[in-house]
Amino acid sequence: MEIQKKDIRSLTKEQIRDFFVANGEKAFRGNQVYEWLWSKAVHSFDDMTNVSKETRTMLEENFVINHIKVDTMQRSEDGTVKNAVRLHDDLIVESVLIPTETRTTACVSSQVGCSLDCNFCATAQLKRMRNLNPDEIYDQVVAIDRESRLYYNRPLSNIVFMGMGEPLMNYPNVMKAIDKITSEEGLGMSPKRITVSTSGISKMIKKMADDEVKFKLAVSLHSAIEEIRNQIMPFTKNFPLTELKEALEYWYKKTKSKITYEYVVWKGINDDQKSIDALVKFCKYVPCKVNLIEYNPIDDGMFQQASNEALEKYISTLEKNNIVAKVRRSRGKDIDAACGQLANKS
Ligand code: SAH
Repeated sequence: MEIQKKDIRSLTKEQIRDFFVANGEKAFRGNQVYEWLWSKAVHSFDDMTNVSKETRTMLEENFVINHIKVDTMQRSEDGTVKNAVRLHDDLIVESVLIPTETRTTACVSSQVGCSLDCNFCATAQLKRMRNLNPDEIYDQVVAIDRESRLYYNRPLSNIVFMGMGEPLMNYPNVMKAIDKITSEEGLGMSPKRITVSTSGISKMIKKMADDEVKFKLAVSLHSAIEEIRNQIMPFTKNFPLTELKEALEYWYKKTKSKITYEYVVWKGINDDQKSIDALVKFCKYVPCKVNLIEYNPIDDGMFQQASNEALEKYISTLEKNNIVAKVRRSRGKDIDAACGQLANKS
């Protein structure tokens, strides 16, 4: 039986340098290979054109490059692009390119399926199969950067961890991916252009604050009333709002970075005055802004987008309380690429 070869991208630069030395070559070869693997993000050893044929063969005998493959790519009428990405073990995740006048945003996945159980989200209906590796997260970003250059003549400008999965349930790998994305040896992107979205895993929010991360934080709140939140996001029974509040205060104290709350308003669920007042109160704990996301219906019809009047009521009350609030219209709805719609349908 053939021994499973190791993915060379699970090695650090030091380890690759050591491999070369152990095989009688100069350590600097390791730097060259590392650059091909990350900042140039090649898919095969044969693409490493300044590396000798013998060295490439040696690498091939010892390692694999488990690069993702973009299986299918769909383009929405509004310019949004959705990639179905095949992983080395044939599982699929989705990532989305969202172009606007001034920026191109990549929305990337952090898990195959999701650990959580939000009733309104199509991804939650998929079982969590596994966490993504750092390189699988990185590769999604590279693929979207390439598509952005190809279709929109500009590099990717922003990244949001709002695809499939709960990033804070795969924290070590998400951090490693972000390290690579922001490092000069990777893509050299500013962490200020990266947003990690969580449905509120308090303990991990504190951990991020302790780690002094430089990216931005978004929290999927959807209700500031415990009973309602418990109903629509059942896992939150183990993650009470008081703990979330405390974690967010801790985050702000350490990072001085404003929080974005993501919030969908649904008919008969949170479109009443009591819900608005609870949100206003919650928003006063730490500096923040609110993104009111348009609901993207998933099949079972239990949830319905609230009326425009209800939305206006939210906006005007938040503004009266000096809280910045914006309505975010969906992008890529026609190809199931909008928030909460990623469910490997194609
Ligand atoms: N698990 C993380 C990352 C996913 S982000 C988190 O929850 O933050 C995806 C965002 O889309 C979250 O804010 C989620 O609450 C929201 N969402 C899920 N289903 C949706 C739907 N059907 N319509 C609109 N937004 C949805």
